[in-house]
This record gives sequence, structure tokens and C-alpha cells, in this order.
Amino acid sequence: MTPRPAAPPPLAVLQHLVNTRELLENHDDLTAPAGLVAWAEAEGLPCPPRPTQADLTRVRRFREALRQLLHRGEGAPAAAAELNGELARTGTRPLLHAGPPGTEFTGDATTPLDVAITRVLATLITASLDGSLSRLKICGAEDCLWAYYDRSPNAASRWCETSVCGARHKMRAYRARQAAAAQPS
Ligand SMILES: [Zn+2]
Repeated sequence: MTPRPAAPPPLAVLQHLVNTRELLENHDDLTAPAGLVAWAEAEGLPCPPRPTQADLTRVRRFREALRQLLHRGEGAPAAAAELNGELARTGTRPLLHAGPPGTEFTGDATTPLDVAITRVLATLITASLDGSLSRLKICGAEDCLWAYYDRSPNAASRWCETSVCGARHKMRAYRARQAAAAQPS
């Protein structure tokens, strides 16, 4: 498969999380505890040594809310509510500090997973505030929904990879037109 555009850090942590599930391949890295540990290790995030099913469910819900938020479609309001719930649950909030200008995020984390989610939320909010989040998109193909980084000059791309999903979309549209044309009028 053609490589799909990777986001630069720190956006990459968001992209990697969304793409732990690959719809086209019907594959999900976060169905087993070992998968969650591997994901957290790869991102340098803390993780419970033995994640529970509740941990896995929580991260998968968080991931799908992130996907829907970035998709900016009809699922976005519910996704925002879900993510706001995690903001409240983890107590994630900005923290001013003395010294060089800057704001960091803190939280009321009591578990490694809370810390990990706080860090991902902090990345999401920072990227939203500085505008860089607008280039992290979800592929417009409903059976793909891959998170990709839009490198096009005017940030107007719709597909994770034009030669893959864009071409599939064009083919479907072509077939639909052919079918419509074949209908007796
Ligand atoms: Zn795609």
C-alpha cells in the first residue's frame, strides 16, 4: 500500500492513537492488554502494567471520539462531549508557570492511564489552540477513516492517499453515474 502522510510530532501521538484501528484491514491493536501496553510504550506514555478490560474500553472510546472529532462530521458533537468528559474525569487544565512564557497542562491523574490520557488531551488542546490540528484529518472514505496529515498547500485534501481512497471514491461515483444512466427514463 502507498504510504500515507505521517504527522509531525507532537500531532503524531494523536494520529498514532486513531490509527491503532485500521478499518480497511479490520484490525484493532487495542483489543488485548498487550496491545495497549505496546501502544503506550511506543508513545512514551505511562500505562498500567496489567490493563483491565475497562481500561481497554476506555481507551477505545477515547480513540473513536478523537476520530469523530477530527472527522468534523455529524458525530463531532457527541465526540466533543465524550472528550470533555475525559477532560473533567482527569482534571486536565492549563497551568501557568513562572519563567519563560508558556502554559503547560496538568491534571488530577491518579492512575498511569489517567496520566496518559491527560497527555494526549494536552496535545489535542495545544494543537487546537495553535491551529496545527486543522491539518490532522480523517480520510473521507467511510470505510477507511484513517488519520492523515494534510500536507497540501491549501490544506484541502480529502483522502488519506489520493491514489488509494480518492481513486476508490472516483470509481464508485463513476459506477453510480453508469448505473443511473442505465435506468430507463
Ligand atoms: Zn483513506
